[in-house]
Amino acid sequence: MSDEERRSVRPRSMTLRFRRGLILVGVLCVLATLTAATLLFQHSYTERVDRYLRALCVTVADGYDLAGSGDPQDLARLADDSGVRCTLIAQDGAVLYDNAHSGALENHADRPEVKAALESGSGSCTRESETMGQETHYYALRLDTPAGVQILRVGEEVDNIWGLSADTLPLLLCAVVLILLAAWLLSSWLTRMMVRPINQLAEHLDTIEADVPYEELIPLARTVQTDRKLREDNETMRREFTANVSHELKTPLTSISGYAELIESGMAKSADVPTFAARIHKEAQRMIALVSDILQLSELDSTQASRGQRIPADMVPVDLAALVKEIAQTMTVNARKAYVTLQYDAHPATVQGCRDQLVELATNLCDNAIRYNRPGGHVELRCGTGTDGCPFLEVEDNGIGIPQDSQSRVFERFYRVDKSRSKATGGTGLGLAIVKHIALLHDAHIDLQSQVGTGTTIKVTFPKK
Ligand code: ADP
Repeated sequence: MSDEERRSVRPRSMTLRFRRGLILVGVLCVLATLTAATLLFQHSYTERVDRYLRALCVTVADGYDLAGSGDPQDLARLADDSGVRCTLIAQDGAVLYDNAHSGALENHADRPEVKAALESGSGSCTRESETMGQETHYYALRLDTPAGVQILRVGEEVDNIWGLSADTLPLLLCAVVLILLAAWLLSSWLTRMMVRPINQLAEHLDTIEADVPYEELIPLARTVQTDRKLREDNETMRREFTANVSHELKTPLTSISGYAELIESGMAKSADVPTFAARIHKEAQRMIALVSDILQLSELDSTQASRGQRIPADMVPVDLAALVKEIAQTMTVNARKAYVTLQYDAHPATVQGCRDQLVELATNLCDNAIRYNRPGGHVELRCGTGTDGCPFLEVEDNGIGIPQDSQSRVFERFYRVDKSRSKATGGTGLGLAIVKHIALLHDAHIDLQSQVGTGTTIKVTFPKK
């Protein structure tokens, strides 16, 4: 989704999200609690039913035993008072008596509780009832009567888990309705409570990091604060740059205007006119150099802003050795004019980069090494691949050097150690700022070594391919 599309989509409501979340959590909690409670209740309930059936069966069996006849009629009297289903079964499974059924019943020999009682003396079993939501618990005892072996079985029908759940359904519905209501009220209150400090924060962006109300908002506050600081710094830099540019342009323009006025008004002697014209030309040249450097910096600024993480299309493998030779040739004339010898020592090295920008970088460094030198001085251009595999480009001179306290500032725009010397040699104060920018665009690292009176070495190390 594009930024434009994202902006046009209305953000989601926090109240609605809280409400939905609270309702979901509430409903899930009620369901989980009721399920667990029903399961536990059913378990303990059936256990008690089984215990009760066992005790009852033993009591009825004792009564039957006392009668001592083995006659089902004796059991009938006892079973009527028991309140549960009592069945008397012969050893072959034939039903001798059942207080819940007066008619004949099918053979019970295959019933698990009867089989178990015949084998071990007692047996129990639970079976689904024909009625939905119910199950029947049985307990059976083997009796040795004068009429032979008989099985006394008692049974009770109780609610199974589904039967119990049906009972709790109205309770569940009531709980859900209550939760809906509580979530409705709570979400509105919670949203208000949470949003208020955030809104207050938005009113005091200056102190956002100190006032941040929630731990989770610290990264956001930090980003806002950093962004603001960056914007302020950029704004200050922009203002300083505009002021510097205006000042730098105003000086040559004033001179040009002055000399032109002298010639125009006829105040300049005809012998002086060629000198004045030469000065006008020189100042105009300075202005052209300045404007060209400013344009180049602004181009580099916009390249940096638009680049992001992408590798730009103009990044190609550049042969540094060939580039060094080419620059040494072009700069020889300038070096000769300044009575400086220019040499190069080019070893194979390739950089992934923009050739024009790398030419500009090397030219600026070489130009400075010549301009801030002395007659008879020496400049050496070097390139190669370091022991770590990183390609490098180095310019060394034995010129005037840079004082220690200025070394960190020479890469700033318009910073000069000696303004008059810079101007006299055609400097704009932007050469090293351009170098720094180009190095940044190539992920390169600049190292400056300098000593006043001894000379300067500037080494640009590029990343390994
Ligand atoms: P400029 O156009 O004035 O040369 P730069 O940005 O290229 O501007 O350099 C900034 C300042 O750094 C120069 O004014 C000069 O004082 C100092 N400088 C740069 N390179 C050298 C060098 N090789 N030797 C001595 N000083 C240098």
